[in-house]
Amino acid sequence: MTGMPHPYPSTPAPPPYAAATRLVALGREPRTPGAQVGAPLVLTSTFHANGADVYAREDNPTWRAFEDTLGALEGGEALVVSSGMAAVTAALSLVPPGGVVVAAPVAYMGTTSLLREQADAGRLTLRLVDPTDLDAVATALSGADQVWLESPTNPLLEVVDLASVCRLAASLGVVTVVDNTFATPLRQRPLDLGADVVLHSATKYLSGHSDVVLGALCTRTDAPGQALRERLAHHRHLLGAIAGPVETWLALRGIRTLAVRLDRAEANATELARRLAGHPQVTRVRYPGFSAMLAIETRGSGADAERVAEATRLWVHATSLGGVESQIERRRRYATEPEEVPETLLRLSVGIEDVEDLWRDLAAALDTLGQ
Ligand SMILES: *Cc1c(COP(=O)(O)O)cnc(C)c1O
Repeated sequence: MTGMPHPYPSTPAPPPYAAATRLVALGREPRTPGAQVGAPLVLTSTFHANGADVYAREDNPTWRAFEDTLGALEGGEALVVSSGMAAVTAALSLVPPGGVVVAAPVAYMGTTSLLREQADAGRLTLRLVDPTDLDAVATALSGADQVWLESPTNPLLEVVDLASVCRLAASLGVVTVVDNTFATPLRQRPLDLGADVVLHSATKYLSGHSDVVLGALCTRTDAPGQALRERLAHHRHLLGAIAGPVETWLALRGIRTLAVRLDRAEANATELARRLAGHPQVTRVRYPGFSAMLAIETRGSGADAERVAEATRLWVHATSLGGVESQIERRRRYATEPEEVPETLLRLSVGIEDVEDLWRDLAAALDTLGQ
């Protein structure tokens, strides 16, 4: 069959494509007759000399397939790393020794803990500020090197005016880092809003099946963006927190269905938020109106809320989020979660199950509070 003309071009068709199409079509091999349709899983530590790839701590074709797909989604270029925290560490490496970092007091626990530890060790100065208070942010940014943002925030689900903070930061020469794990690039593209570095725990929505730990960093394609990307790639290469090809391949397989997973999970979350607002044992519902993370506060004590999480039979009582299965967790069960997080706050990662089944299970667990 070799040498036969084939009916379609060997290079991926050019953009523009809608995000849902990019998720499916990018990160694939050229359309050579007889070649595999998916991306190759390349398991090698090294490559024959004189080629484009030299050693697998520096680059890998499986990484590139994932990076091409995620980069196109975020409107920039992506680098895959071993975990969300490896992405956090890489972004933090951009701060000069003794530099000033502005961050929210309540954010992803790992990020906050790392920033505090590094501040305590004298590696940086940390300025904590409410990211929804633009005046306070403006004051804190003066003389800073880097600002860290999440939106929606974890686990309070507050929405930050990313465009305004990015504009302010850019005018002061402050590097903006946005953790886009909760929103995903389908709901928010921080690079378009002026962010310098976007990071992901690809462990969550991008992979989507709670079977992979992986992270990624995205930068813009302009000259400053490329300079940042080079520094981040250098960090990955020399500090060595690289992604496994198997994990990367699994994440690429997972990301193909992100659009349908997120649409379904978001529809479920919207309906559950509405019903939870009317439940007699729920005192507050936090749902930003997009993506599929929500949080509720319940009547009674923290121990009572803990029992709700334990009483569910379908919802999975576990940490983490963004999987196809719905997950529930009381965040203050961790001593490191700050006091701004209410004792009874239950974080819900809504999955793609049938919404009536999810509601029955959750409502029954909440009803135990009244008994
Ligand atoms: C989970 C998470 C991280 C850390 O990612 P890992 O893959 O667990 O290292 C960072 N940010 C947010 C918002 C997360 O949810």
